[in-house]
Amino acid sequence: MIKVTGVDNGSIAEELGLVAGTTLVSVNGRELEDFLDWEFLTSEDQFLLHVRQPDGEEIEFDIERPAAIPLGVSLEPARIRRCANRCDFCFVDGLPEGLRDVLYIRDDDYRLSFRYGNFATLTNIKEHDVQRIVEYRLSPLYVSVHATDPVIRRWLLRNPTAPDILEQLRFFASYGIRFHTQIVMSPGVNDGPVLTQTFTDLWNLGDSVLNVSVVPVGLTEFSRKDRCREPTRDECRAAVAEVERWSTRSRTERDLHWAYGADELYLRADLPLPPEEVYEGFEQVENGVGSIRFLQRCIREGAEQLRGWRGQRIGVVTGTSMGRLMPEVLAPLAEASGAHFELIALENPLFGSSVTTAGLLPGRAFVDALQGRGDLDLALIPGESVNDAGLFLDDLPFDALADLVAMPVKLSKTFVDAAPEMAA
Ligand code: SF4
Repeated sequence: MIKVTGVDNGSIAEELGLVAGTTLVSVNGRELEDFLDWEFLTSEDQFLLHVRQPDGEEIEFDIERPAAIPLGVSLEPARIRRCANRCDFCFVDGLPEGLRDVLYIRDDDYRLSFRYGNFATLTNIKEHDVQRIVEYRLSPLYVSVHATDPVIRRWLLRNPTAPDILEQLRFFASYGIRFHTQIVMSPGVNDGPVLTQTFTDLWNLGDSVLNVSVVPVGLTEFSRKDRCREPTRDECRAAVAEVERWSTRSRTERDLHWAYGADELYLRADLPLPPEEVYEGFEQVENGVGSIRFLQRCIREGAEQLRGWRGQRIGVVTGTSMGRLMPEVLAPLAEASGAHFELIALENPLFGSSVTTAGLLPGRAFVDALQGRGDLDLALIPGESVNDAGLFLDDLPFDALADLVAMPVKLSKTFVDAAPEMAA
């Protein structure tokens, strides 16, 4: 059963009398468990919907409408599936105490993998979930493989009962499910020959594996460093060489770029990033794979709009990781816009200097960096540093930041998304 949290004005749901608080019980006699059931079972032109109104009245609607017209309800968020693993490199263990509770949830949810591209390990799925993945054809899924050797994978996940990922992928592939995969590289554990074997096994699964990315482990001052360490420059170079070997092979044999290194891998290897065309559809850009090239493309395509900033002095605030790569972005940005950009790369005062990601910067860091800067016309804040409710990691609302600093501030992920609207 799923609770309705809102109904769109003028929608079919409103016409039927559904309200916030209505319980969606079943469709065609099948009980509804979550948004997946709702979306897939109501995808036909005609279906029977059984609801319970807040006053307890049970109603069955025989709904007939073109499938393309949405019913217009918002649903309560699904209960997140908790992770069954205890990876040494888990970002949750790397968080300091005292942050909001939701940040300590280890989610590992195939539904969010399908819907939002969150990576899942598939170690906590039950037979019922397997059937749903197949029945609803949840494809593509984003899967954290890490290693295809079951013993090494169980070690990495600290989960002695983790199923054999190759068997799982093979099974789902036989039903047409495809996968974006990632390997979080833990030096001395799944690099070297283990990485080669993992690539080989994924390659042998054929076109069901859409791509493979290698991401170096990222640790904070709070991570379990006695069990896991960050890779050295040479270890990252070796991983880049392996990635590029598979990329060359996939281009030759399958005419696609199949193997990728995260930008962070190239950064730590002290090697230049591959050219933009390597990243094709930027399918793992949210995973830090091709982010710089993606930004460069956004700037090129949005150049017209960026001209609205001409002559302004704009602060670009980010983490130290992006800070090292940002000059590659700011040069074309300045050229396209005619504005002057100042890079303000912040160390993370909450997690320590080893946490370099912009998305993990607390609001206080932005306040400290921008207060007293009367010389900027605008400051751009990384869009990924606030949640859907507009809160930074330390619970500072974005609006409060805007009140505490002298210049206007805007959240931005692509620069173009913050550029002034151009007159028609
Ligand atoms: S799979 Fe590992 S890294 Fe991901 S949430 Fe679980 S323990 Fe953390």
